[in-house]
Amino acid sequence: MKLILASNNAAKLEEMREILNGLGVEVVSQREAGCFFEVEETGTSFEENAYLKAAAVTKATGAAAVADDSGLMVEALDGAPGIYSARFTGNPTDNDEDRNAFLLRKLEGVQNRRAKFVSCLCCTFPNGDVLRARGEMHGAIAQAPRGNAGFGYDPLFLSDDYAGRTNGELAPGEKNAVSHRGRALRQFAEELERYQNAHK
Ligand code: IMP
Repeated sequence: MKLILASNNAAKLEEMREILNGLGVEVVSQREAGCFFEVEETGTSFEENAYLKAAAVTKATGAAAVADDSGLMVEALDGAPGIYSARFTGNPTDNDEDRNAFLLRKLEGVQNRRAKFVSCLCCTFPNGDVLRARGEMHGAIAQAPRGNAGFGYDPLFLSDDYAGRTNGELAPGEKNAVSHRGRALRQFAEELERYQNAHK
């Protein structure tokens, strides 16, 4: 089965493509499928936003589509930025570096730096069926950014799985093996296999 990846985020697409291809699922990006729109994330949860993104692409193409809505949840900030991770600073022209600097300022003098990444996946089918999966990656926020790998808050995230190294210092395979998105995608691939077997 060919799936459309409902995202315009190049770094996220790259991760999703690599993990799903490794699991034997063939994917094309929404752009490759002719969808050039950006879906407004008006939901109040990761789950809702993932559904909105996947459903819009299924509606436009008549094909199955999978979307990830993800973000960083910081304990000392009561779970912020959460679903607002991509627009944490409130300034739409800010980039990842600006958001990382903003997060560090918010955590100045704060002892508890525990945080987690969350990825919620939603796959929508033209007949209205929906599959969901979720993954988390636990860790802490570093005192300063390190490493250029990955995207978003990766240079600041010290995963519990790789003591002392930020996600920005991990090779793609190392990150995908333990990341929120990697976990969610592997769970999703199992769901998809069960779904396909039941609909043969
Ligand atoms: P979305 O496109 O609304 O799901 O936004 C996700 C945002 O969460 C990204 O723009 C990043 O700021 C952050 N994020 C999600 N996953 C990751 C990751 O794997 N590494 C670093 N930042 C991430």
